[in-house]
Amino acid sequence: MAEPVLDIRNLSVNYLTPRGTVKALRRINLQVPSAKVVGLVGESGCGKSTLISTVIRLMAENARVAAGEIRFTGKDMQQLSPRDLRAIRGRDMSMVFQDPMTALNPVFTVGRQMADIQYRDAVSRKEKLKRASDMLSLVGIPDAVSRLDNYPHHFSGGMRQRITIAMALLVQPKLLIADEPTTALDATLEVQIIRLLKALQADFQCAILFISHHLNVIAELCDFVGVMYAGELVEKGSVRDIFHRPGHPYTRALLECDPSVIAEPTRFLPTIPGEIPSLIDLPEGCIFHDRCPRAAQVCKKTPPPEVSLAEHHTVACHCLEV
Ligand code: SF4
Repeated sequence: MAEPVLDIRNLSVNYLTPRGTVKALRRINLQVPSAKVVGLVGESGCGKSTLISTVIRLMAENARVAAGEIRFTGKDMQQLSPRDLRAIRGRDMSMVFQDPMTALNPVFTVGRQMADIQYRDAVSRKEKLKRASDMLSLVGIPDAVSRLDNYPHHFSGGMRQRITIAMALLVQPKLLIADEPTTALDATLEVQIIRLLKALQADFQCAILFISHHLNVIAELCDFVGVMYAGELVEKGSVRDIFHRPGHPYTRALLECDPSVIAEPTRFLPTIPGEIPSLIDLPEGCIFHDRCPRAAQVCKKTPPPEVSLAEHHTVACHCLEV
């Protein structure tokens, strides 16, 4: 694997709450190589958003990094001054959020917002607007020059998300973080946005950390995938490894619950029995043991080791059956 743009090592993050310490992330190891797309998948509450907010250091006030480090292009993100952080965010690292309406400022035109985001570049406003209209054309907004004068509410949901992607790429980031960017869109628009992201990533050669709970989206877009469960990265590998040779029982259960793989009409969609355990009072042993069909005695007492199944493919499980 090439030198990672983003290198997360042994990261643990807690939230301090009146009810106790929520151990939201534990011992996360994840690398995003240059010019590759890494997907993170898992149920709601598994820690995907906490991981992103820690990477970009926009954490909640009660969040604390308990251990580990995050290196972005070799720099330790936790040690950067606010000034150095500002220099990275919106330039080397940019974000696409789930809801484009909250990401765009409703009281300014799209052109103004796209010009303002280039504030670091010493070029004329005319040149910034030219770049903005070129980028809007690239993401498929017709009549881009005149649409620079429109406000966000003049665009449909799918177009607004195209605009946020255009803004994120306008600064030519080394890493684009996309936090469920298609969740608020219908299925047709979702496909369009994923294909657009894929084409743009090939053009711009930036790395992407892509968060989603839609497995088919992850399969279509990503080179590598990390599977999160209750604050832990339980399996990671290439898309082929995860979708064709999943090793962790949770990954298998997730794949079996994907509605797109159900061949026969059914009244009930498959689910994973049980619930995510309390992150305040963590169970002993494997975090998945009370929902796992393969749980053995050792799983209830001892946390599973990370086992390597192939190059880049690791699984945290006592009882592998691949
Ligand atoms: Fe299941 Fe045991 Fe593997 Fe955990 S370690 S996923 S309980 S088999």
